[in-house]
Amino acid sequence: MSLEREETAPIVVIGAGIVGVCTALYLLREGRRVVLLDRGEPGEGTSFGNGSIITEEAVVPVQTPGVVWKVPKMLVDPLGPLAIRWQYLPRLAPWLIQFIAASSPHRVEEISIALRALLRGATAAYDPLVKAAGIEDMIRRSGWISVYETDAGFRSYQPLLDLQRRRGVNLEVLQAAELRQLEPALAPIFKYGVFYPDVSYTVDNLRFVQELAAAFVSLGGELRREAVSGFERADGKVNAVITDHGQTACSAVVVAAGAWSKALTAMLGCRPPLDTERGYHLTLPDPGISPRLPVYSTERGFVCTPLEKGLRIAGTVELGGLEKAPDWRRAEVLFKNASRWYPRLDRRGETKWMGYRPSMPDSLPVIGRAPHHSNAYLAFGHGHCGLSLGARTGQLIADMIAGRDSGIDMAPYRADRF
Ligand SMILES: Cc1cc2nc3c(=O)[nH]c(=O)nc-3n(C[C@H](O)[C@H](O)[C@H](O)COP(=O)(O)OP(=O)(O)OC[C@H]3O[C@@H](n4cnc5c(N)ncnc54)[C@H](O)[C@@H]3O)c2cc1C
Repeated sequence: MSLEREETAPIVVIGAGIVGVCTALYLLREGRRVVLLDRGEPGEGTSFGNGSIITEEAVVPVQTPGVVWKVPKMLVDPLGPLAIRWQYLPRLAPWLIQFIAASSPHRVEEISIALRALLRGATAAYDPLVKAAGIEDMIRRSGWISVYETDAGFRSYQPLLDLQRRRGVNLEVLQAAELRQLEPALAPIFKYGVFYPDVSYTVDNLRFVQELAAAFVSLGGELRREAVSGFERADGKVNAVITDHGQTACSAVVVAAGAWSKALTAMLGCRPPLDTERGYHLTLPDPGISPRLPVYSTERGFVCTPLEKGLRIAGTVELGGLEKAPDWRRAEVLFKNASRWYPRLDRRGETKWMGYRPSMPDSLPVIGRAPHHSNAYLAFGHGHCGLSLGARTGQLIADMIAGRDSGIDMAPYRADRF
């Protein structure tokens, strides 16, 4: 009986964010039966409100060398680009220690190599999915610019630009006049820009997930609104996923529940140090400006992206866990910063949001088989790059389940690497 179940039971993917939806689609393309479970609607988690950027250049981890010296400032400046809610510090401490340990020059070099291996081909991995969904026009291959206001600021980022160059990232340094030519909407306050031609964005990150989820269903996948609460396990395998609606037998399970994956993996006896970097956004439906392409500030940690529904101002990092209320002053800081770039920004009708980046302390996701179960797979922890890596993760998980060599060393993404 159990053999029969193994052959006929579907693969269950938990979480219909960008990572889960793409994984479910890739598995469906393999001819597998796939059930996608989410306690809410597709894209309502962190994939709801990100900066909409699909980037292959993000080879610099969050924890760069010297980050340890920034921790005191992170604790006392709640509105800084990187802040820690000090009440959360006791719970964050183990994660923070790993974060700092991962910031040594040697580790940063290794991590950037592992990030590059994942990010290379991240945009191309979307090609078959957007084609199947008929939404090729939702991806704009415009490139993006990062901007620097001062000579000193630009100089201090040289080691990180060098790191990008060592990883083969395509970039072009722009002087102030060239920057203005490329993006005339910007105020003339910048000394330098760096243009990254290989960066794309989607014109609406939420509709993007929703369209992909709709394609999953129309291609024969089963999408169900159920909250997962446990697993039925025996002999090192997961036989069924338990939800608020009952049980679903499975031949394999993929945990892709973003920042909420920790509780689920704990039930599989696996405890990777997943936490959350909270981020904020404002969306201005009628901003009164028409930027040509997304613009990013490394110094201030936010991006402005021209979406089909207005201007998205998104970013900053707040280490504060999954339970504390948002600090909306951080969204105000986003507006204040963006209105220096685009002085006549109209904020009438704006909406604001806070989301939970699923973040590992070394800035690398978990993609791989769960340590104690031969048919359980983990796909979470994508931090700042979940939209960029959604399709690439789906591709890699599908390779793994099919027993194919993905062509890259998967060891850096193992759940038990710490
Ligand atoms: C402000 C901000 C800006 C960002 N900008 C970018 C960007 O420009 N580019 C980029 O690449 N990334 C960006 N990111 C990061 C990106 O948004 C995330 O990495 C990505 O959305 C994570 O996707 P996910 O599918 O892993 O998680 P989610 O989108 O959170 O999906 C997880 C899903 O799991 C479901 N779930 C959880 N627990 C259960 C359960 N027990 N049972 C059933 N379902 C469950 C949730 O309901 C949710 O739908 C940004 C993030 C923030 C906060």
